[in-house]
Amino acid sequence: MLSLEEAQSWVLSRVAAGPVVEVPLADAVGLTLASPAHALEDVPPFANTAMDGIAVRAADVTTVPVELRVTATIRAGMAAIDPVLPGTAQRIMTGAPIPPGADAIVPVEELQDLDAHGTVVRVLTAASVGSAIRPAGEDLHAGQLAFDAGTVLGAGHLGVLATIGLATAQVHRRPRVGVISTGDELVQAPAPLGPGQIRDSNRQMIISLLQQTGCDTVDLGCIPDVEDEIRDALASGIRDCDAVISSGGVSMGDFDYVKAVLRSLAAESGDPDAMRWMQIAIKPAKPLAFGVINGTPVFGLPGNPVSSMVSFELFARPALRKMMGVPETRLHRSALRVTAPNGLARRPDGKTHFVRVSVEAAPDGELIAEAVRGQGSNLLYSMALANGLAVVPDGTGVEPGGTARVLLLADPGAGRLG
Ligand code: AMP
Ligand code: MG
Repeated sequence: MLSLEEAQSWVLSRVAAGPVVEVPLADAVGLTLASPAHALEDVPPFANTAMDGIAVRAADVTTVPVELRVTATIRAGMAAIDPVLPGTAQRIMTGAPIPPGADAIVPVEELQDLDAHGTVVRVLTAASVGSAIRPAGEDLHAGQLAFDAGTVLGAGHLGVLATIGLATAQVHRRPRVGVISTGDELVQAPAPLGPGQIRDSNRQMIISLLQQTGCDTVDLGCIPDVEDEIRDALASGIRDCDAVISSGGVSMGDFDYVKAVLRSLAAESGDPDAMRWMQIAIKPAKPLAFGVINGTPVFGLPGNPVSSMVSFELFARPALRKMMGVPETRLHRSALRVTAPNGLARRPDGKTHFVRVSVEAAPDGELIAEAVRGQGSNLLYSMALANGLAVVPDGTGVEPGGTARVLLLADPGAGRLG
């Protein structure tokens, strides 16, 4: 059996960052910058006021109270024109440019209007040079590096790209990933369940996981255990998609054709050894088929729904992130150390166990993990209750009150019902 690390590094060694495209900022969230982004402009572009108030010469307001004549009003968006002369002030609104001659802002809270028209004000508090003024380029200077290649773009990054004068970003293209379920027993609602049939849960689950990863999805269908049909579906995915994920049909059963089909597609591609069938020392998700056929990575995930999901998390998601240009250090989920008040018991079997846990924050903020009910690899309901996978190394598990490393899959509390 392969260790988890060996299997992960083999999969990652076979995939590379995808092509670079230029996309509007509105389409770039979750994608990775392919080239450094530099500020085209100073941010802010001009010195402006941080507060509503009056623009003054600081020398005029060193001794207070003092009265000043108000000569103009400057709104945000206006170009300031007239200078502030000694003994005068100009009303100014947050974000408006500082007029020539002024070097301080007195906020409106520190003023008294002395006539109904507001033409004379009394300044109650002294202001020093620069107070409440936001200098040009305070945040970023024109030409300065804002983000390097490899930055995964979140809302904050995209706000910055917009503010430095960019309308588009150079990113690694969002992968299009084909998804196939296989199994004679699978039917989809609202079709009634016949004898021996179950619902296809994996396709919906994997499509959702891909969407959360930031990939586009192509539904290649739920295919019965018929070799030709499986071949058509996998071949079309390999031809048209950037990656293909199938579930089921990769174990030792008599009708597990996915394996046979992938082997023959690999041979036809001129690389008979392209696919590798792995047995990994983990539970769940021990079997995994992975390879690159005609340049398209293909993941043959196990059919049991929980195994499918764990396998996606441990192998497919990091590989897809690498294809999206995410740096090596950020491919995997972070493993947080979390307290398990009731422990996480297990028996030694030579494997690392991934125990589905619900992680919640205690009132003091400490993260607490509880194993969710039903850990069988067919018991999918537990996946919905779980928002983390506790990594429990071979041995007898975690004692009550001990700690475990947990791969956090969603926000703390996300598994809570209702
Ligand atoms: P297999 O890997 O094809 O032998 O499937 C292993 C187990 O997972 C069997 O009990 C299948 O019925 C079940 N299974 C396979 N694919 C799916 C799916 N798409 N949705 C739900 N259960 C599945
Ligand atoms: Mg099957």
